[in-house]
Amino acid sequence: MPELPEVQNFAQSIQSNYVGKKFKNIIFHRDNLRYPFEKAKLEKIFANGIEFLNCYREGKQIILQTSNGSVTISLGMTGAFKAANQNEVEKHQHITLNFKNGESLAFVDPRRFGFWKVFDSKELKKTSCDPLVETDLLELFLSEVVKNKCISVKDMLMDQKLIGGIGNIYALEALFLAEILPTTRCVDLSITKWKKLAKEIPIILNQAIALGGSSISTYRSFKGDKGSFQTLHKVYGRENEKCLKKGCQGNIKRIAQSGRSSWYCPDCQF
Ligand SMILES: [Zn+2]
Repeated sequence: MPELPEVQNFAQSIQSNYVGKKFKNIIFHRDNLRYPFEKAKLEKIFANGIEFLNCYREGKQIILQTSNGSVTISLGMTGAFKAANQNEVEKHQHITLNFKNGESLAFVDPRRFGFWKVFDSKELKKTSCDPLVETDLLELFLSEVVKNKCISVKDMLMDQKLIGGIGNIYALEALFLAEILPTTRCVDLSITKWKKLAKEIPIILNQAIALGGSSISTYRSFKGDKGSFQTLHKVYGRENEKCLKKGCQGNIKRIAQSGRSSWYCPDCQF
């Protein structure tokens, strides 16, 4: 499932390759993904001659803004954007945005859990905290909402209502760097550890963005490459391997936590 770095990678690629150009039309190659497409409204937003004003990430979603409205896009499990050819439609390509200059941008999604929704400003609540900003994270962590929670710190990090865009991989990697056991309850964590965690999260996410994300399963970046952050995973997927922390003799363990795997080093995370 794409996490923040993967979503950011698509938003940046679309921003730098297409913003400022004019649309020709939007073509649907099926009627729905997770939800039925609001075809008439989307056709208006991407109508002939409409200008592409902006593309950015909001939590784990991508916003496309045109001079005629905006769309919120979720990549779901396997959604991706790629440059396309106006005359060819590949397998799993569900939407094509055609530009007047002959270029095309395709949305592909083999498992079809993604969605395109017309962006309604009435629905826009100030969303969750942005995990790229250390001070925002620290403010959230030290707030009553989080500090007194009895759930584990890992489950809290992955709660999209609190923080947008951290999933299993980056939660576990950040907890490793901050030397915190994923199962520790929020209420039991010291201020020092919260500070460490708030510092490590933006560092790790920015590293992953720079490397084009992690290629787990089907993820491909806009350019079609796999992203290389997974070569830097220190705990994720490394069961029984040696801990990579300098001077630590531990071996990485895997446990099931809230229905998903957690990897950690029992010697240096507590
Ligand atoms: Zn260790």
